[in-house]
Amino acid sequence: MIIILKPNAEKKSVAELKKQLHRLGVEVKQIHGEHWNSLHLIGDTSRIDIQTLSVNSSIERVMRIQYPYKLASRAFHQEDTIVQVGDFAVGGGHKAFIAGPCSVESVEQMILTANLVKSLGATMFRGGAYKPRTSPYSFQGLEEAGLAILAAARESSGLPFVTEVMCVETFDVVEKYADMIQIGARNMQNFSLLKRAGKSRKPILLKRGLCATLEELLMSAEYIMAGGNHQVVLCERGIRTFDTYTRNTLDLSVIPAVKELSHLPIIVDPSHACGKWEMVAPLSKAAIAVGADGLIIEVHHSPKEALCDGAQSLKPEKFGLLVNSVRKIMEVI
Ligand code: PEP
Ligand code: MN
Repeated sequence: MIIILKPNAEKKSVAELKKQLHRLGVEVKQIHGEHWNSLHLIGDTSRIDIQTLSVNSSIERVMRIQYPYKLASRAFHQEDTIVQVGDFAVGGGHKAFIAGPCSVESVEQMILTANLVKSLGATMFRGGAYKPRTSPYSFQGLEEAGLAILAAARESSGLPFVTEVMCVETFDVVEKYADMIQIGARNMQNFSLLKRAGKSRKPILLKRGLCATLEELLMSAEYIMAGGNHQVVLCERGIRTFDTYTRNTLDLSVIPAVKELSHLPIIVDPSHACGKWEMVAPLSKAAIAVGADGLIIEVHHSPKEALCDGAQSLKPEKFGLLVNSVRKIMEVI
C-alpha cells in the first residue's frame, strides 16, 4: 500500500499517521520526492481500512497494491485448491457435475433423481430443504424433513449432496446432514452466516450475489477462510443486468478472472443464470470451455410438476446428453 501525502501535510499529523500504521503491524518507509512525499507500507495490509485511515488530514490518496483479500488470493497460494466432497474432488483439473431438483419434494423424488443423475454422470446431487423464495406464499421447503430425505437419497445412491443453509439458526442442523453446504446468492454478504461457515469443517459452496462484484465475492470467501475453513468452492449463477429475456445474465468472464486472482475452484450454475431449460446445455458447454471447475444443474423427473424452478429444470435424459457433450469439450480443451 502506498499513501501519497498532501504537499502541505503537517509534520504532526504525518507522525500520528505513522504511529497509527505501526500499531496496525506494518513497517513504514517515507519517500521524499521532488513534488510529493509518500509512505510505503510493508507487511500485511489486508487489515488496514482505507476509509478509517483517510480521516487523517495529511493524506492525499491511498493506493492498494495487495488485494484486500489475502487467503483467497492466488498471490498468497499459488496452487489450485482442490476441495474434496465425499469421494469426489473439485478444482485442480477435477470437475464437479452436480445435479438435482431445486427443492426436495418427497423421498421418492429424491431417491429416484439421485440414482438417475448418478447413472448419467453426476458426481454429487443437489436439493433445497430451506428455500429462499421471493414470495412468502411460495413453497418454502421441507426443512429438516427435507434434510433427512437428502440423507436417504445419499444412502441409496452413494453420492454426496449439497444443500442450502439460509440462516445461522439452522446452520447446525444443515451441517449435521450435508456433505457440502451452499450459501445462496441472496446470502453472499450475510456476514454472520459467512462467519459461522468459517467455523464449519464441511466444504462450502459460495454463490455469487445478484449484484456482487468479483472483489465482493472473493471478500466473502475470505470471511469463510479467515474463520479457518479453507474448503470453499465459488459459483457463478448469473448477475442482474438490464436485460429481462433471461432470469439473469451469466457472467462467464468471471471464470478466467477468478483463475487469475484466486486459487479457489469456481463452478457455474447455468439454470439460475438463464431461467430457461433450453439454454442450460449451451451455457454449460461455454462454462466448461472457459475453464469452470464444474456445473450445478437443476434436474427434475417431471419439470412441469416441480414445486420450484420447473421452467429451468432439465429432464434427466437431457442432463445425460449435456454431460456427454460437455465431456467432449473437456477432451478438446
Ligand atoms: C438454488 O441453488 O436453489 C438457489 C436458490 O440458487 P441462488 O442462490 O443462486 O439463487
Ligand atoms: Mn432453483
